[in-house]
Amino acid sequence: MERRFKGGRGVDAGVTVQLRRREMAAPTSGAGRCRLSKVGAGRRPPPARVRVAVRLRPFVDGTAGANDLPCVRGLDRCSLEIANWRNHQETLKYQFDAFYGERSSQQDIYAGSVQPILRHLLEGQNASVLAYGPTGAGKTHTMLGSPEQPGVIPRALMDLLQLTREEGAEGRPWALSVTMSYLEIYQEKVLDLLDPASGDLVIREDCRGNILIPGLIQKPITSFADFEQHFLPASRNRTVGATRFNQRSSRSHAVLLVKVDQRERLAPFRQREGKLYLIDLAGSEDNRRTGNKGLRLKESGAINTSLFVLGKVVDALNQGLPRVPYRDSKLTRLLQDSLGGSAHSILIANIAPERHFYLDTVSALNFAARSKEVINRPFTNESLQLHVLAPVKLSQKELLGPSEAKRARGPEEEDIGNPEPPAAPASASEKLSPLQKLSSMDPAMLERLLSLDRLLGSQGSQGTPLLSTPRRERMVLMKTVEEKDLEIERLKMKQKELEAKVLAQEAADSKEKENCSPTVLRPLTHRTVTATKSLKKAVVMPLQLIQEQAASPHAKIHILKKKGRKRKLESLDASEPEKAEDCWELQISPELLAHGRQKILDLLNEGSARELRSLQRIGHKKAQLIVGWRELHGPFSQVEDLERVEGISGKQMESFLKANILGLAADQSCGPS
Ligand code: ADP
Ligand code: MG
Repeated sequence: MERRFKGGRGVDAGVTVQLRRREMAAPTSGAGRCRLSKVGAGRRPPPARVRVAVRLRPFVDGTAGANDLPCVRGLDRCSLEIANWRNHQETLKYQFDAFYGERSSQQDIYAGSVQPILRHLLEGQNASVLAYGPTGAGKTHTMLGSPEQPGVIPRALMDLLQLTREEGAEGRPWALSVTMSYLEIYQEKVLDLLDPASGDLVIREDCRGNILIPGLIQKPITSFADFEQHFLPASRNRTVGATRFNQRSSRSHAVLLVKVDQRERLAPFRQREGKLYLIDLAGSEDNRRTGNKGLRLKESGAINTSLFVLGKVVDALNQGLPRVPYRDSKLTRLLQDSLGGSAHSILIANIAPERHFYLDTVSALNFAARSKEVINRPFTNESLQLHVLAPVKLSQKELLGPSEAKRARGPEEEDIGNPEPPAAPASASEKLSPLQKLSSMDPAMLERLLSLDRLLGSQGSQGTPLLSTPRRERMVLMKTVEEKDLEIERLKMKQKELEAKVLAQEAADSKEKENCSPTVLRPLTHRTVTATKSLKKAVVMPLQLIQEQAASPHAKIHILKKKGRKRKLESLDASEPEKAEDCWELQISPELLAHGRQKILDLLNEGSARELRSLQRIGHKKAQLIVGWRELHGPFSQVEDLERVEGISGKQMESFLKANILGLAADQSCGPS
């Protein structure tokens, strides 16, 4: 007799995963073995519909009455019928991708519906298998099975590990590694079964739409023994809960996540990640009929909420609604990239033949029928390996020089060092230096180049593919990119330093204010320039005139009023030519101009960002830019150097001078000195 999990429906992993290697060997060898090819890798595959299989379990010991007849009947390999409870003369017929009757074996389900999607993992795509159905219909049996009849999980792991060993063997283009995580969602809490002390974990989404659970343990596994070593105690964690909470395991969603990482051994050192979710969902039975109370009711509420949201997600996807309510439950959030997302998905709806399951069976079949319409868009998760950037970064640091290089190095680099050796040996990457430089490019840009390259290749383009441009040109291009990157990095660092300085300065300033000491510099914006006696020499002139005047120290002092509609030029000195009358009101002596210029220069060279902001036309951003430039290039030798600051145009520099020189000159003439 088959050895079952403790408690019939629960999971006694201690017994469960003592899988017979003999049993496992058969399906993974010979003709039935999963062949993972890389066909289509890199190209966006066509949309893939969620595959739906239905498995009808046999009557199990003690559940069948003497004359009990099943209420479900298989018609062929894809369809079944069930009595119509509204009209007993009729039956309801359903068609799916596969129907597995009561005599079907674990191997039939695995080879027929699960094995074919595993190959996508080695293409860097995601895959998921979900067992759905009411409690007692055979979900755990299908996913986990028993030692005598191992289910989908052990079979998939056995195959996948074997395949990754073959594909990642020395001499093959990709190095492969596999990790596993195991969690359960119990009452809307995500619990790490590999680390039961961790508590509720959060589910996040990265910028590429991948679902992540920060803090979830990932155990590297290289053999089935490794897998068992982690899986057995983790399953026992579940069993402990099951004993304490009675049937907890059928009240929670169990999710085994297997990640296959691939790293290309040669340039361009791509990296792929394929995720496989193997999910044993909690029972989908209707809470109202189970008569659950208290904790059971609460649990069922949570379970039914997430399964209810799952139904809503499926409906929203089918109807193409703009908002899919993935975030409404933990389960659907986790499945976001498995339903209508980036995965090849298979839903196995488990049903039972007994009459008392009838309504749950109909509802499971209806859910399965709706899921069949969901279209996924699997894509290859491909990026560039980050660690191959290390040698390039080093060379950049060499360029920076020792002190700059030290600042350029992030603290994380100091701490982490180089955790993994580069995929290619140093000598090999040196030989491939022009290609290696590709890795210093913006990964997004390189990805686009690669896909364009592939596109050209796939269209049989006779032209030179983008990445096969002549070596010399490519090197020039790479060098430019490298220099740009370097400059950007340096500027970013400076920016950070400056921000820190500004903050420090602001803190110091506010302290100063508190101490009631007079500010060194009055804000120019609040200064009014009046033509008092001593302001005979106040100045506002076009820059060219300022320069001209500065060059002739004996030029006379004027106050010119603008020649406007109502105003007349009033020359205080009749001998003065009227060349400036068109534009300017005031002219002052070159000495004052020079003073004004000097003051501006001093401010530019010594003023803090805050002080610079007190100048006209200098806002927060420009003040930062000026301080940054000064840090980088040293003091300004003349005010016109301002034009050299990135982000300040010649025109802006001129208008800045016009706006400020008068104020500063006036300051000079009116000041207490
Ligand atoms: P679920 O996980 O859906 O609650 P289980 O997998 O625990 O259901 O199955 C309930 C019972 O039925 C278990 O004793 C299990 O061994 C048995 N069972 C389920 N499916 C089959 C099957 N295809 N063949 C034989 N026994 C089965
Ligand atoms: Mg179960």
